[in-house]
Amino acid sequence: MQVASEKVVTFDFTLTGSQGEVIDQSQGGHFAYLHGSQNIIPGLEKALDGKAPGDELNVTLEPAEAYGERDERLMQSVPKEAFPEGAEINVGERFQAQGPDGSPIPITVAEVGEQEVTVDANHPLAGETLNFDVKIVDVRDATDQELEHGHPHNDAA
Ligand code: ZN
Repeated sequence: MQVASEKVVTFDFTLTGSQGEVIDQSQGGHFAYLHGSQNIIPGLEKALDGKAPGDELNVTLEPAEAYGERDERLMQSVPKEAFPEGAEINVGERFQAQGPDGSPIPITVAEVGEQEVTVDANHPLAGETLNFDVKIVDVRDATDQELEHGHPHNDAA
């Protein structure tokens, strides 16, 4: 069976950055997603289209096909008081901020000053060229419930 829309695809992967550093990998457990439902980044989904179990591929994705370019307007200076009382604020630490519509926005602390903290709302992998080593383990038809939910279920219940 080939990878196509409405198939559940199971694969193993190693994700490395432009310096060859390992960013993420499927250790032991395989990774599964529902093809055509935007469960994974668009460039990777496109590269997997038409592949079959046993296929191995190496996919390099420019930022535009992965997590997008960095947007410097998403860097913001906020007063320290905006953080929870007693919170340890260190560079690289991640917090949840509230967007204008109340939805949570993950932010990363970029710089800590005397009174102000610079936070970055870019995705941590924005601006990165990503390299995926993928081995396809299994391709199967999605169940009606999986199609309804837009994601795979482990035991296909
Ligand atoms: Zn579900």
